[in-house]
Amino acid sequence: MAKRPTRVAFVSSEIAPARWLPQLETALPEMRFEAWPEVANAQAVDVALVAAPPAGVLGRFSNLRFIQSLWMGVDGLLSDPTLPRGVPIARLVDPGMVAAMSETVVARVLDWHRHLYRYRAQQAAREWKPLKQFMATDRTVGILGLGALGVDAATKLAALGFRVCGWSRRRKTIPGVFCHTGTEGLETVLRQSDVLVCLLPLTAATRGIVDARRIDLLPSGACVINLARGAHVVEHDLLAALDAGRLSHAYLDVFETEPLPDDHPYWNHPQVSVTPHIAALTEPRTALAKVVANLERFARGETPEALVDTASGY
Ligand code: NAP
Repeated sequence: MAKRPTRVAFVSSEIAPARWLPQLETALPEMRFEAWPEVANAQAVDVALVAAPPAGVLGRFSNLRFIQSLWMGVDGLLSDPTLPRGVPIARLVDPGMVAAMSETVVARVLDWHRHLYRYRAQQAAREWKPLKQFMATDRTVGILGLGALGVDAATKLAALGFRVCGWSRRRKTIPGVFCHTGTEGLETVLRQSDVLVCLLPLTAATRGIVDARRIDLLPSGACVINLARGAHVVEHDLLAALDAGRLSHAYLDVFETEPLPDDHPYWNHPQVSVTPHIAALTEPRTALAKVVANLERFARGETPEALVDTASGY
């Protein structure tokens, strides 16, 4: 008997199906793709390909066997109470997105290290005032999260000459990077970090991790770069530390509420640089091969790559 084709539903409130489906249909002609809500028979769907799926939709696919995310972070997906339990979820580890994130990290670190944010303010005030030069070797960059994104950024910063330390749950060995774990390891990283970069997944254990107590451990005049999720940083504590001069600057790409509300103090704060959650976007040119390979693995009955450990939340 001929094998029934794998049925894949594309479910996203943020990405147009036209960005993905034509290439997927070409790469996987043996599979059947449909974009929600134009799914003829929800019970026949085997796989959901998702990016910010509307709450409740995945619960309608009663025979779902695999969820492939088109994003690297899955906190939003896991917080949907209607997410079908027990269905394996793979996140996307996209080489283009990893490269984009490292460019964003390096750009922010260099902006701070070379005082460019201060020279922009000086230009606005027509002020000609050279500031003290530091070498990359004078600065320590601490990276919270040494996963797909953190390792790449750490390695590139180390290649530029920065002293780099990092923190993860399980012990890591990364050439040129001082790696730490545990509560003590976090404190060691914080005490040394002239620049603190957050690249953690948002989980119960990491929510609010950058709070007043931990900001206080950073060297005076340090800089915070949050490119992971807004809820990693306690906004009130960050603003208080900036206003008190404990921190010199914050580069923020992610926020508790997105889009950032019109009246939020970050917008006009002289020590805050805001970007609209663009640190790294999914890049279909590099991500397509990863998604195709994982759908093929699923269809062959193999374990897909980059499966999420739902107990750990990432
Ligand atoms: P990943 O590969 O899963 O790596 C996560 C890292 O965080 C790992 O090193 C992990 O430790 C560590 N970690 C997790 N929980 C921890 C804890 N409780 N204590 C210490 N370390 C902990 O994730 P990724 O692909 O690098 O992505 C990280 C996050 O970046 C995503 O979850 C997403 O939210 C965010 N992101 C943002 C954008 C943007 O445009 N702003 C784009 C893409 C992703 P182990 O290595 O020991 O597991």
